[in-house]
Amino acid sequence: MIVLGLTGYPLGHSLSPRIHQVALDHCDLKGNYALYPVAPDNLQGLRELLEQMRIGEITGLNVTIPYKRTIMAWLDTLTPAAQAIGAVNTIFMQNGQLTGGNTDAPGFLADLHKFLDSHASRKKDAKYALLLGAGGAARAVTYALLSDGWDVIIAARRAEQAQMLVDQFPQSAEHMHTIPFEASAFQNITDDLLLVVNATPLGMSPHVGKSPWPGDLPLPKRAVVYDLVYNPRETRLVCSTREAGLPAICGFGMLVEQAALAFETWTGCCVPREILFAAMEER
Ligand code: NAP
Repeated sequence: MIVLGLTGYPLGHSLSPRIHQVALDHCDLKGNYALYPVAPDNLQGLRELLEQMRIGEITGLNVTIPYKRTIMAWLDTLTPAAQAIGAVNTIFMQNGQLTGGNTDAPGFLADLHKFLDSHASRKKDAKYALLLGAGGAARAVTYALLSDGWDVIIAARRAEQAQMLVDQFPQSAEHMHTIPFEASAFQNITDDLLLVVNATPLGMSPHVGKSPWPGDLPLPKRAVVYDLVYNPRETRLVCSTREAGLPAICGFGMLVEQAALAFETWTGCCVPREILFAAMEER
């Protein structure tokens, strides 16, 4: 019996149980994927979940806000990616050690490549990406983009948060730049941009209808837009980008990819992505 689950707080909106149940069924594996909400005033609850993993009662755990960083200190070891990113979203047992990994970064990159491949004419040698936001998801995106040869321009409303992100990747400092989260700063760089990534919550509830891109500034004409928000699937940013005749995609593919990669880590089974997408579309 494979016991999987997600911890974080709050977890009410999660699509992960559905994605993983489809994966279990497809691989003909007996098991389930449960939600383990742990309120911030009960961190002992997190430790207890990890104990359950050690004794084999839980096979694998996903971790989400607000514990992606907190939980690192309680694990035995980290994968190189989780170590570099400074965040864990997948926990598994390996050689008797409680191990923290990160599938957000490869999940984002896999989906980004699919998206860029369908707009091949937009691939260029100099790859400048503007990253809006510098929180948890931005860390994984930055790691993914740097490893894929992009220069990353980080726009954050708190300059110190953007700088912390740069400091996280000292080997790549020359490929990272920070700018204020302001229309005038965006305007200065739009000609160079091939990619804009939204890693702020603007566009999702309770910010539905809001866009991180300034309304009076034209979108960069050579760029594609990747919005990490996946609920709703068509955010204000995605809609306005398409209305401007430019390609845009939401973060639903990243969600599916990171889940599939975590599932493969826990079970060794690689689930065709179309099956997961189709099941979620039905829903
Ligand atoms: P987070 O750690 O809270 O970071 C959010 C970032 O956005 C911070 O830099 C924050 O700045 C900034 N921000 C918030 N409101 C802003 C505003 N009004 N104007 C400018 N900047 C603002 O959240 P996260 O975990 O990175 O998640 C960010 C988004 O990515 C969420 O919508 C989440 O659902 C999505 N996400 C998607 C996937 C996927 O699989 N598709 C995976 C992870 C996350 P302050 O710190 O100053 O508030």
